[in-house]
Formats: sequence, structure tokens, C-alpha cells
Amino acid sequence: MTDQLLKFAFNGVPVRGELVQLDAAWRAMTAHHRYPPAVMRVMGEMVAAAALLAANIKFNGALVMQVYGDGPLQLLVVECQPDLALRATAKVRTEPIADDITLRDLLNRTGRGRFAITLDPKNPLPGQRPYQGVVALEGDSVAEVLQTYMRQSEQLETRLWLASNEGAAAGLLLQRLPHDGDDDRTPEDQDAWEHLVTLSQTVRSEELLSHAPADLSHRLFWQQSVDHFAPLMPRFQCTCSRERIGKMLLSLGQEEVDSIITEQGSVGVTCEFCGRQYSLDPVDVAHLFARGVETVDASTPDGVRQ
Ligand SMILES: [Zn+2]
Repeated sequence: MTDQLLKFAFNGVPVRGELVQLDAAWRAMTAHHRYPPAVMRVMGEMVAAAALLAANIKFNGALVMQVYGDGPLQLLVVECQPDLALRATAKVRTEPIADDITLRDLLNRTGRGRFAITLDPKNPLPGQRPYQGVVALEGDSVAEVLQTYMRQSEQLETRLWLASNEGAAAGLLLQRLPHDGDDDRTPEDQDAWEHLVTLSQTVRSEELLSHAPADLSHRLFWQQSVDHFAPLMPRFQCTCSRERIGKMLLSLGQEEVDSIITEQGSVGVTCEFCGRQYSLDPVDVAHLFARGVETVDASTPDGVRQ
């Protein structure tokens, strides 16, 4: 069991890198999911990518990565918290799906495929809303789409190598560090960057999936002077709770929830991320709306709290 994310820096070269390898966390995350292999592959690559990006930014909140469109895969969501707690879910529209389908074909029937990253602050300041960047789905793989996104939205030159199978999800990220001046990037910097990309391109999916990050970093960059930071521990953890389910039911409205109670005797909600089941009986629901409407009315004028 590894479940490790390693950040590293190249001495004298304005490039940073990260390697992530998830096995137990990946298996725990997917234990409740049964998706076609092509969807699982994309999910694993996005989980690895979300961990790499979340570890790469200074932001106190959730990083949510989504792909959605009008192809056989309707939606895939990966969420990563600042402490690298990860969860993922997907909605498949039609089956069967060919094992070797590209990301583009998985999501794009008529060019509507989109890739989005949302940064949702944990303790938002008054008026602060989540930041969202959305781009058209350009590229046949998660790595290609993300590279385009990083270039367009963040103006950061980033390269990614991602891999996943049933037992593991893993990835390597290289990023050129932003610089202050307009033109202080030397030809030596450019050569060094290209050399590091060339070395990274030799990595095979099996190596990413089976080697611990520190071993792989030595293997790939043994000729470079590399500083390793203390490894981080990504893990699977769902943030669902009875309270959140309550909020979701409040937003549905009492009429809708009462009609479910009349029909079924109780309200059952299954978390799409972890499969945990929540059940509320008529007394729970009556309490929820009595309590919820009070607090909601007191806090917001329109009576709806997300
Ligand atoms: Zn959950």
C-alpha cells in the first residue's frame, strides 16, 4: 500500500514536479461503483490529476474536477479536499461502451463535451463565490484536456502523464514555474524544460502504477539534482453527512419530500460518492422542516440555503 504524493523541485531549474500513486485509496473509492472499464479508466486518471492539482495550489477548499457532455458518459465528478481526501462518482447515459473509446467520444456526441474545475472555498468570505473555469473538451485523454486547460486558464505550461487500472491510479506532473519579468526566461531554461519533458515521456503506465513515487523520481531523474519534499498521503474520504442530506431535502421543498413519505413511508437517500444509505422517517422529516425553515428564514431572505 502506497497512497503517496511526492512533490519535488529541480535545483537551478524553474520547474516543479509531483508524482502520485494511489492503490488502497483508489480501491476504497471505487468499491461501491460499477462502471464500464472505459469510465473507470477516465475516473482513475481524473482522481490522480485532481490530487496533483490540489497539492499544487494554495487554496483552502475543495477542488472539484468535472467532465460532462452528451455522449455515453453524462457526467464524471472528482472532488479533492486540501488534505487530499478524495471522492469520485459518475453518471453513465448509455451502455455498452467500447473499452478503447477516447475521452472525446465518451462525452461528445455533438461537440458539447466540457471540462470544468471549480474551487469551492471552505470558509467563504461574505460574497465570495466558488471560482469555476470551464473549457471545451479538447483532447483525447484527461492529460491532454488538462494541459490545454492549464495553458488557457492559468497560463501555466504543464505536462501530465496519467494512468489507471482496477488496482491503482497514478500520475506525474511537471510545471514550469511562473516568472516575474516578461522576458527573463533564458534559452537554458527552455532547454532544461524540454530535457525534463523528454525524460518524463519515457515513463510507462505500468511504472506509474506500480512504483512508489520516490523510486520513480530516482529512476526518471537520476541525473538531475532533485529536492524531495515530505510525502503527502492522499486518501479516500466522503464528506457526506446526515446534515448535508438534510440540506439537500430542504432544497427539494416540503411538498416534494412529504409526497415521498406518503408513497414510501420514509425517505431513503444513497450517497452517489460512497454508497452510504441515509433514511429519514416521518418524524425526522417533520423535525428537519420545522428546524430548517426557522434557520433558513433567519439567515437568508429568499428562504433557500445551499
Ligand atoms: Zn458519501
